[in-house]
Amino acid sequence: MAKVCIICGQEVPHGRMVADDAVIRSIRWAKQSLHIAKNNTLVVCEKDLEAHKKKRQGYERNLAVYIVIAGIVLVLLVLLPIFTTGFSLYAVLVGLLFAAILVLMPVITSHTPALAEAQKTPPAGKKAAGKEAAGKKQVKKK
Ligand SMILES: [Zn+2]
Repeated sequence: MAKVCIICGQEVPHGRMVADDAVIRSIRWAKQSLHIAKNNTLVVCEKDLEAHKKKRQGYERNLAVYIVIAGIVLVLLVLLPIFTTGFSLYAVLVGLLFAAILVLMPVITSHTPALAEAQKTPPAGKKAAGKEAAGKKQVKKK
């Protein structure tokens, strides 16, 4: 199986493995159904690690924003009819459709899978939490 970098799209001798996520599994399943699967191993080559990190962060942020917007749209479309003309199944279905499209948009435009060994990096925000605790102690002293 050839190793293909997901950032530069080139076949590379080695690279960091990419984690299989729901999107990759769906794409692979679709390709296998259509018999166009190349069964390449998806990796990120050494020179693209930094670019991948940035892309992944951008994708995660995008996805989070769109999920929030989708949630708001769905809630509005479910609640608005209840307060005006009464519960509407049609509005709920439209809301679900809109929400699905909203969540799919960042996935289609900027999906970037995580690296397989990403768990090794310590969780971000640990330092910040420590600072917060220190801040609380100072308040107590006063
Ligand atoms: Zn590359």
